[in-house]
Amino acid sequence: MSRDPQRHPAELSREELVRYGRHLILPEMGIEGQRRLKASSALVVGAGGLGSPLALYLAAAGVGRLGIVDFDYVDESNLQRQILHGSARVGTSKVESARERLADLNPHIAIEPHDARLTRDNALAILSGYDVVVDGTDNFATRYLVNDACVLLGKTNVHGSIFRFEGQVSVFDAARGPCYRCLYPEPPPAGLVPSCAEGGVLGVLPGVIGALQGVETLKVLLGIGEPLIGRLLLFDALSLSFRELELRKDPECPLCGAHPTIRELVDYEALCGFEPDAELAGGDEIDARELGALRQKDPDLQLIDVRTAHEWAIARIEGSRLIPLGTLPERMDELDPSRPVVLLCHRGIRSARALEFLRSAGFTRLRHLRGGIEAWSRDVDPQVPRY
Ligand SMILES: [Zn+2]
Repeated sequence: MSRDPQRHPAELSREELVRYGRHLILPEMGIEGQRRLKASSALVVGAGGLGSPLALYLAAAGVGRLGIVDFDYVDESNLQRQILHGSARVGTSKVESARERLADLNPHIAIEPHDARLTRDNALAILSGYDVVVDGTDNFATRYLVNDACVLLGKTNVHGSIFRFEGQVSVFDAARGPCYRCLYPEPPPAGLVPSCAEGGVLGVLPGVIGALQGVETLKVLLGIGEPLIGRLLLFDALSLSFRELELRKDPECPLCGAHPTIRELVDYEALCGFEPDAELAGGDEIDARELGALRQKDPDLQLIDVRTAHEWAIARIEGSRLIPLGTLPERMDELDPSRPVVLLCHRGIRSARALEFLRSAGFTRLRHLRGGIEAWSRDVDPQVPRY
């Protein structure tokens, strides 16, 4: 069980007073703050690109107990960005490589390696032992798993993700703000979003994003400053710019909303592997450019957005109408079945479901936007924000 850092402040040795001197002279921190860090614990999920700066800085800062979960081995192709590991460790397990490096960096803390793949069977047991969870994973299945486990356990989840030249950071704490599912109710279709292995990543990018996660983790553990709760920070390395989006808790969130339907961990491989039926993938889809052209010449077109009101507030296509998927059964009589309908959502999953539903209700002139509003922003109107 996690200890309450406030009730059991740890004593600092002479060596620690010397080591943490630059912390101790910060009025916001002082000896009390440093003792609080020593009595606290954090779990870093993934000892890769994000996990590298995270684990190094959290260890160096004196977080008393640092857990690292990873099942992988150090590969030569990791070293372009995973600065926690070195050439001499190629072929050894990442958590073992991490343990050695971190123990050398700071012998005053406990490193707890979890040499395992995080799954629905072990996630609750592993995460429950730490005060805060830091998500440094590189895939959607684990990201949803970490989010769900954190909400079910009431833990704060310091989120970060990267792709090519862009990254994002937020702090999800369902008691005080939204969770990852409030922001992304559905994973992208399998194969649509390439991994860093397929799409590439600038080596220093996880350094920037992982360091920001480290900042947020220390703030959460110390209870100082304003954490990124309810805010999504977006970083673009090419333009060297930061953008911030306000995130609201989705009252309809199936996990942290008023009437949750997810009460235990689910099958994340299946969740993220979902692909629309083969028959749907063909003639029922319209791509973004095709839709752009069609809107010019067909004034009868009904463009229906089936996302949530929360997502609609972030980004919308001018002239579209919002009918969230959950309300479609009671509101479908607002649609004219004699006129063509194009359905859209974030990435094309919910719109496929909406299409199936309307078809079963007798609608025939139906299509849905392949890749959703994400594709529209990418291919037609870059002014529409992506999230
Ligand atoms: Zn939520």
